[in-house]
Amino acid sequence: MRGLHAAAFGTLRPLSIMVEPVPVELDPPDLSRYAAGNSGIPYVMSFRASAPGPHVALNALMHGNEICGAIVLDHLLSENVRPVRGTLTFVFCNIEAYRGFDRANPTTSRYVDEDMNRVWDDGTLKSKRTSVELIRARALRPVFDTVDTLLDLHSMQDSSAPLILAGLPDKGVALARRIRSPEIIMCDRGHAAGPRLRDYAAFADPASPKTALLIECGQHWEKRTAAVAIAASYRFLAACGVLAPDKCRSVLDFTAPAQRVLAVTEAVTVTSDNFRFTVPYRGLEVIPKAGTEIARDGGRAVVTPYDDCVLVMPSLRLARGQTAVRLGRYTG
Ligand SMILES: [Zn+2]
Repeated sequence: MRGLHAAAFGTLRPLSIMVEPVPVELDPPDLSRYAAGNSGIPYVMSFRASAPGPHVALNALMHGNEICGAIVLDHLLSENVRPVRGTLTFVFCNIEAYRGFDRANPTTSRYVDEDMNRVWDDGTLKSKRTSVELIRARALRPVFDTVDTLLDLHSMQDSSAPLILAGLPDKGVALARRIRSPEIIMCDRGHAAGPRLRDYAAFADPASPKTALLIECGQHWEKRTAAVAIAASYRFLAACGVLAPDKCRSVLDFTAPAQRVLAVTEAVTVTSDNFRFTVPYRGLEVIPKAGTEIARDGGRAVVTPYDDCVLVMPSLRLARGQTAVRLGRYTG
């Protein structure tokens, strides 16, 4: 433990649990009936109400192995959920990666060529570079360019508490508070490897009313992750005013713990071919003392920069240039 005191890690699980494969409790839905879409783009379903209103979108499968989002959209479409005003769009995003989902090896279908949630900037999307993910992102761009409010559904490697990622502008936190759950609202500027859809164009502009949230609903394949995703999606749609409250009364009538804002101050980006965490963190550990070593990046010690530093979503994908972990503090 390199001098770290075990008490610093709170509810950290033992190593044996960290390395055991997580059983796939969720069933990936058959999405073939959405293949043609209904708006000219495959796997995009869009519905317009007669009453005017915002364009609200739910995005699933930015990462092909994060199947809770597909379950949500399939559920809402099966329930014939339609907007009472404005436009409601459901996007099955990285469908090529999802097609490769294999219960026996569920981690491999995150993407085909590259992480699709690192390509969302004008320069990358207009570049000559190509990949399975860029082709799909370019096809979806006209949709996202017209979206006023977006919820991007994700899940995590470890079963730490759900998070809602609100970005830096205040508008994200305000929307997250209207959804009332999850408890932790995380504010960060994203990844060095490239912008997320959540950070795309007007979504990241404090002067624009367009707002995007990314929700990490729980561990990728745990049953409860889908339940979190479905409830949060209903509350999001109700908060956006596109869903009549009586359609989702059961998920709106609940007592939620007060939300806390977790401000991410920096991302630790892998700079060597040998990055190792000092212990197997699962996320949301609070490290009491500044200067505590949390990882080795080649020969360099990675230490916490301040007291009560929170470790956010430590990654198992420790390749050079990728985000290893984000560091933050609770601000409210
Ligand atoms: Zn994801």
